[in-house]
Amino acid sequence: MKILVQKFGGTSVATSEKRAMVAQKIIRAKKSGSCIVVVVSAMGRKGDPYATDTFIDMVKELSPEVDLRELDMLMSCGEIISGILLSSSLKNMGYPSCFLTGLQAGIITDTEHGNASILRIDPQRVIGELQEDKIVVVAGFQGVSETGEVTTLGRGGSDTTAAALGVALNAEAVEIYTDVDGVKTADPRLVNNTKTLEQVTYSEVCQLAYEGAKVVHPRAVEIAMQRNIPLKIKCTFNDNPGTLISSNGGTIERGAIRVSDRLITGITHSTSITQIKIPVSEEFLARRVFNSLALAGISVDFINILPELLLFTVKTEVAKKAVKILENLNIQVEVKDGCAKVATVGAGMTGIPGVVAKIVEALTEENIEILQSADSYTSIWCLIAEDDLEKAVNALHKKFIMTD
Ligand code: ADP
Ligand code: MG
Repeated sequence: MKILVQKFGGTSVATSEKRAMVAQKIIRAKKSGSCIVVVVSAMGRKGDPYATDTFIDMVKELSPEVDLRELDMLMSCGEIISGILLSSSLKNMGYPSCFLTGLQAGIITDTEHGNASILRIDPQRVIGELQEDKIVVVAGFQGVSETGEVTTLGRGGSDTTAAALGVALNAEAVEIYTDVDGVKTADPRLVNNTKTLEQVTYSEVCQLAYEGAKVVHPRAVEIAMQRNIPLKIKCTFNDNPGTLISSNGGTIERGAIRVSDRLITGITHSTSITQIKIPVSEEFLARRVFNSLALAGISVDFINILPELLLFTVKTEVAKKAVKILENLNIQVEVKDGCAKVATVGAGMTGIPGVVAKIVEALTEENIEILQSADSYTSIWCLIAEDDLEKAVNALHKKFIMTD
């Protein structure tokens, strides 16, 4: 059986006109002869009546402390609503279809409510429905624990559902449909003249996604990579070819090894970061600082440990808690809120001199102060003020991508 998994995100199913376009994409794929499994997200974004964030706000208005088990059941409703609407319209258009919840689709997870991981998929029910020539519509973002509790998979969870079903069903491909043409060289909401990457490797996309490019969830990419299932990112609202993610997409032979044919794949960003500076005034301070934060479950980033200074960042949402812990230990801290991280990402930059020089040049030309920097062999990160973010991403994009 040739199986194609198609996933449609919240932006693709937000209105009835958009859902009609989704149905067209599904029907076209069905007519091409494949068995179709569709994964859907909830409709729209915060504020829209059936969006997941709207449900969360409704219950949090009643009480800020919500039972996580019950919250997961509430959060799983959005996908059920959009999935049933989609399945009904497919039936209306003459295409037999069947809607399944995560439980019915055999998606078994651990018990981490709100951020569960898929342990395995028992695909018999899905296969049975496909054998009856039905289009199977599965609710994304949800599963069920071994003890029968409804769970949700966290942000980007529907991408993960699609990739995991792709692997479980040994699909010919997993297509992720969204509101942009594919994986781009920067977030099109910040940069006007982005390029769509035609082909990229799993690891390049993982890098971009981990650094903030939310077009596809990195966990989904990792799952697809395990079994080499091609992942395609496409736009629901046009017929452009999109981006093909595979093990050798966009690479070339250099000697005996395959390397990326690009120096830089893209520029990504993340926001809501707080920088913390601690002057070193006593012996073993670093140990006390990082131990106490670790004990409180606070993860730190951009860590620079110097003899006279400790420098690191935390997510702004936990910054107050972090500062309180440190102050309780009588440790003096200097706090800078409103920071953002820009990452210049590219598997091809390994061992190529001059990348940092170009980054510094691009940012200083725009009078953007670099508050901190860090690097790995495929990324260089700069911490900047969030107010400079749009300017910074555009400057780096211009320097590295437009002149490529
Ligand atoms: P969906 O509802 O389809 O899951 P998301 O909002 O999760 O959609 O992801 C699509 C969005 O990702 C785009 O609208 C775009 O603004 C954003 N995005 C951020 N970085 C990138 C990038 N490098 N390439 C493409 N899109 C990106
Ligand atoms: Mg998404």
